[in-house]
Amino acid sequence: MKIMVSACLTGENCKYNGGNNRNEKVLRLMEENEVILVCPEQMGGLPTPRTPCEICNGVVMTKEGRGVDQEFRAGAAKCLDVAMREQPDLIVLQSRSPSCGVKQRYDGTFSGKLTEGSGVTAELLMKNGFQCIDVEDLP
Ligand code: SF4
Repeated sequence: MKIMVSACLTGENCKYNGGNNRNEKVLRLMEENEVILVCPEQMGGLPTPRTPCEICNGVVMTKEGRGVDQEFRAGAAKCLDVAMREQPDLIVLQSRSPSCGVKQRYDGTFSGKLTEGSGVTAELLMKNGFQCIDVEDLP
């Protein structure tokens, strides 16, 4: 099986704070499948580390109030290009991220509250017919 994965889940230090979200289930998937890594925020041109971002009224903003929607959407478009080319059977994404979250994301108030809805990359991938799953929902 071919699987596309949020790069931070494999231990790559591409998370906003310079760390990662290394996940043992994902590492096991990597042993048994062909895995393609993407980090939409880095692919959109944002640095690491970077200021935390959330989707506020449909637009991605940093915690300090700077608009980064263009970078987030550019990264999402690049991930879609990769998916179109590679045709993964499944896409496993980091939960709650403003880019990668599938079922939920932070609500735009930078207070740790969650709301229903996807990050911009997950949303674009699903709109184009790709099967996405939050890493927390991996069996
Ligand atoms: S954009 Fe996605 S892959 Fe990149 S660090 Fe955030 S959750 Fe991980």
